[in-house]
Amino acid sequence: MRIIHRLFALAALVIAFAAPASAQTQCGYATSVSFPVDPNVFQIVQDFGAPSPRHQGRYHTGEDWYGGRDSYGTYVRAIANGRVTFSSPNGWGRDGGVIIIEHTFPDSSVAYSMYGHITNATGVIFPAPFTCVRAGDILAAVGDPRPAPHLHFEIRINQPDIPGAGYTWEDPVSDGFRRPSKFVANWQAWFLDSYRWRADIADEAGPIAPPVELSDHSLIALDAGRVLRISSDGRVLWRVILDTPAVGLVEQPSGVIIAYADGMMRLIDAEGNLGASWQTGLMLDSAPILAGDRLIFHTTDAGLAALDSGAHSVLWQIADAAPILRWSANGTALGLMTADNAMLTVSLDGQIVDRALLREPGSLAAAGDLLAYTRGGLWRVAADGTWALDFPDAPSGGRASAASIGPFAGSTGATSSAPTRCHAKRCCSLPCSSPRHARTRKKRSRTDACSYS
Ligand SMILES: [Zn+2]
Repeated sequence: MRIIHRLFALAALVIAFAAPASAQTQCGYATSVSFPVDPNVFQIVQDFGAPSPRHQGRYHTGEDWYGGRDSYGTYVRAIANGRVTFSSPNGWGRDGGVIIIEHTFPDSSVAYSMYGHITNATGVIFPAPFTCVRAGDILAAVGDPRPAPHLHFEIRINQPDIPGAGYTWEDPVSDGFRRPSKFVANWQAWFLDSYRWRADIADEAGPIAPPVELSDHSLIALDAGRVLRISSDGRVLWRVILDTPAVGLVEQPSGVIIAYADGMMRLIDAEGNLGASWQTGLMLDSAPILAGDRLIFHTTDAGLAALDSGAHSVLWQIADAAPILRWSANGTALGLMTADNAMLTVSLDGQIVDRALLREPGSLAAAGDLLAYTRGGLWRVAADGTWALDFPDAPSGGRASAASIGPFAGSTGATSSAPTRCHAKRCCSLPCSSPRHARTRKKRSRTDACSYS
């Protein structure tokens, strides 16, 4: 009798310990991740972590995805396989419904995707709590909150059944929220067959400057106040903690120069030994841009400064340049897409030869001339700043577009568009304007003027 009791007790113990694990995976693992709405149609209008004036300066815990005034009713889909932990068409009261889904990943990590400002009024039935959903399942539809229809999309590692406020007084990351588009993009990469390794870095916002690749294919990388070397098979070989913030790294024959925000430059060798340092007298706020044999930095006084390739002497400075979003350079000119929606063409001797105002920034590439891929189309920008439509049939470019140069381009400067291969990711639903207007008329769309929760 006593033995039977003990067996029962043992069975109860096993079940008690086994239950949470099976609950976690009752809906299977996430095996793919995608965005809840089409990122070619919707775009982020309020970013993760952005302070909101409409909410006493609190920080946004997700991303607001906007797909135009007529996007009300667009399907919102599950980003991955998972289990519904909260589902209510009135989860945010007059601000709409909320669904939260628990995802278990192959590395056993658990994260929750949260969808806010959604509705069932167009006939989509919300999934019931504790049911399983599959990646891509329709969950709900984009609702109509103030000031315009949009989806509030969160990734969090806690609070599985609390709709939340959409804003926090604290740093959202320390409160358990994660940058949603980064989370999706990361997992999309980690699910690729070609994925091999990753090195996690300290800064949630991502690397502040591109790494430098050494001859053995190891990387020297800058990461939130430290410099580290990562072997070609993903091992961190060393880390050096920096005393003051740095903005970028410059490859040199003898190693790497660390460019500090206060204008100091300092050598570091492949073994992590800090070497000689010197002061440039500049206050830097961008990673270096290599244009010809010049290193060009954005400065905190909204200017540009060019240094020689050794980063010792300042060759020229120009004023009135907003922060740089994207750039491309060839041997004679530098193209800059700036945060105030301008495309600057800068000669390598320090003249702004053209300043084109765009409705939104586009992407840049260099194929002999500079190529600017904007809402108005794909343009070839000559060294004197003259724009010519390069590829009349290219779909509209813009903020989310990318231009890449195929293997046959880049050296001739010929006006033929044949060697250029471009990829387009449309992010706008508005028709393209005429080519002339695209480069001369600054037009703020309604989305720029609105504030979203
Ligand atoms: Zn929001």
